[in-house]
Amino acid sequence: NGDDQKIDYVYKVVVIGDSAVGKTQVLSRFTRNDFCFDSKSTIGVEFQTRTLTVKSKVVKAQIWDTAGQERYRAVTSAYYRGALGALLVYDITKRESFDHVARWVEELRSHADNSIVIALIGNKVDLEDKRAVPTEDAVEFAENEGLYFFETSALTGDNVEAAFFKLLEEIYCVV
Ligand code: GDP
Ligand code: MG
Repeated sequence: NGDDQKIDYVYKVVVIGDSAVGKTQVLSRFTRNDFCFDSKSTIGVEFQTRTLTVKSKVVKAQIWDTAGQERYRAVTSAYYRGALGALLVYDITKRESFDHVARWVEELRSHADNSIVIALIGNKVDLEDKRAVPTEDAVEFAENEGLYFFETSALTGDNVEAAFFKLLEEIYCVV
């Protein structure tokens, strides 16, 4: 259709991380500027898209969301195939979800392309009073692993655009 004519690039991005950290809501905030309090866990792999301008090119971000496959090693390699970027999400109020981040990085390194751009996302910063993961811990981890790092809130929208734009800009630079 006419819209597709203008698209310079399609970038596949995958969203990963433990269950209930807010992956689907972060994605909805970015693609639809929407938040749903009682989102049901999605069945089957799905993606959402948003077309935007990155470095004066029209980019269609095709963002894949896991659906109940968040158990260790349950995400199939097909999910990662062709992905240029990854958003690795944890919940700042759930220490366990941060402790598992290293496993998710390992998954990415073994299944995804070597040049994949990874952004580590500490979500739910609107729940500051329940914080269980100090920002410094995540900054240190991200620096050691060479990841970009953002703290976001899908609820308020805080930093969601910034995180996606940084990821897409870096993809533009590596491909
Ligand atoms: P997923 O399993 O990682 O896809 O997580 P969901 O996106 O389904 O979100 C899990 C739960 O966390 C839902 O009840 C959401 O309403 C809630 N949630 C997601 N993002 C945020 C956020 O930024 N702040 C708050 N307070 N709750 C959130
Ligand atoms: Mg989900």
